[in-house]
Order: sequence, then C-alpha cells, then structure tokens
Amino acid sequence: MITMQGLHKKFGDLEVLKGVDLKVSKGSTVVIIGPSGSGKTTLLRCINLLEIPTEGVVEIGNQSIRFSPDAKVTKTDILSMRRKTGMVFQGYNLFPHKTVLQNVMEGPVTVLKKPSAQAAAEAKELLAKVGLADKADQFPHQLSGGQQQRVGIARALAMEPEVILFDEPTSALDPELVGEVLKVMKEVASEGITMVVVTHEMRFARDAADKVVFMDQGIIVEEGPPEYIFEQSQNPRTRTFLNRIS
Ligand code: ADP
Repeated sequence: MITMQGLHKKFGDLEVLKGVDLKVSKGSTVVIIGPSGSGKTTLLRCINLLEIPTEGVVEIGNQSIRFSPDAKVTKTDILSMRRKTGMVFQGYNLFPHKTVLQNVMEGPVTVLKKPSAQAAAEAKELLAKVGLADKADQFPHQLSGGQQQRVGIARALAMEPEVILFDEPTSALDPELVGEVLKVMKEVASEGITMVVVTHEMRFARDAADKVVFMDQGIIVEEGPPEYIFEQSQNPRTRTFLNRIS
C-alpha cells in the first residue's frame, strides 16, 4: 500500500531523515513512536508530501515518485499523491465559521465534486460513526477539543482516502478527552482502513497497531508487532526510550 525507500529529508544543513525504509500494508495500522525530534512528524508529512523528501522513493497504491536533488517532480504528481491521503492534525484545523456538517461536507463537495445532498447524507453517517450525530449543526467553538478532533477524523474519512495519517492527534487535548478520540481511532482501525499514526499513546500502540515503528535520530531503529517492541526487544535504544516514558 505504502512503500518508502531510502528516504532522506534535510532542512538546510539539518538532516532529519537519514535513509528511512517503511512499508505499510493495506488495511493495517502502523504506529510510529520515538523521542521528540527523532523525525516522526517529518516522516509522516513526507508520506502525503506536505514535506518534499530530499531523496528517496514514495509509493502509495499505484503511484510512485522518486525524489532527488535533480529530479523534476510536478505539482500535479504531488497533488495526485496527496489526494490519496487524509490527515488528522494535532490542532483540529476546522473551519470556524462553518457548522460541523459543513466542515465534513466541504472536501467531498469542492474537491470530489459530489452533489451536496449526497455529501450531506454521507457526512451525517460519518458523524454518527464518530458519535457526533447530534452536533451536526453546531459550530466548532461549541464543541470540546475531543469532539472537534472526532470531527477532524470524520472530515478525513469523508475524502475516502487510501490511507489516513494521524499526527499526534491527542497531544493537544486535556487528558480526560484523550480516551474518546483513541476509541474512535480504534474503531476506524478495526474497519480495515490503512492508518499511520504518530503518537505518544503507548496504550494505543499496544492495542491497535499491527506494526510499531521505533524511530530515533532520523532512522528507524527497529519495527515489529507491539508484543515484540514492548516486551521482547533487546535493542538498547528502544529499551531506554520505553523505560523513560513508562
Ligand atoms: P518528531 O515528530 O519526532 O518530534 P520532527 O519530525 O517534528 O520530530 O522534527 C525532527 C527535527 O526536524 C527537529 O529537530 C525539528 O526541529 C526539525 N524540523 C522539523 N520541521 C522543520 C522545518 N520545517 N524546518 C526546520 N527544521 C525542522
């Protein structure tokens, strides 16, 4: 589903990704963990090309792009790749002057050119799925942070992406609101949607990941099923990280 090969990303002289290879199979949930500054968010943003890799190959579904300092990559290629992904951000990035329903319908109507009645019906179904059927006509500021983030998830799903990327989706939330968002994410994962999640929520990684990827200093140190990473890994960098946060 997603293959990244030999991925490098530099910001000026700072090399943030130093040769990353990652495979995400269709329908699976991959959770990326690691210390702050290790390059997790940059890797995620290289999947949907919000960051342009300095070098390497990004492949999603049937489209593949090779990046290098002298390769010419067109805006059309980048947009078509990005279209395959949905992103849920740390902040909710909802349109403040649109209702919850309008927020979810916006992409399907303007980008996917769906008729508005169809988009509204589908948006209502998605809002029911994230437990917010009764909030359709409210505005974002009338919702809690957890509810807004659930709208963010519904909005990403509405674009029918091949993969949904979550960038620390709960880290801006008050602790008591984290659970409701993780619950919705687990439900989405169990429906077989391909997901890549950057999070500090180790519980979520244990419960929902098919594969956990541990990054440190711009490389993938190791990866494996959660039982392996959390219980069996002997890698000193992995152990140090997990001991520090537990
Ligand atoms: P993580 O998600 O693991 O905390 P990030 O991918 O956010 O790590 O950041 C990795 C490194 O890249 C950090 O040192 C960060 O300061 C740097 N970085 C991230 N984005 C930019 C940017 N747009 N310009 C310059 N440096 C950046």
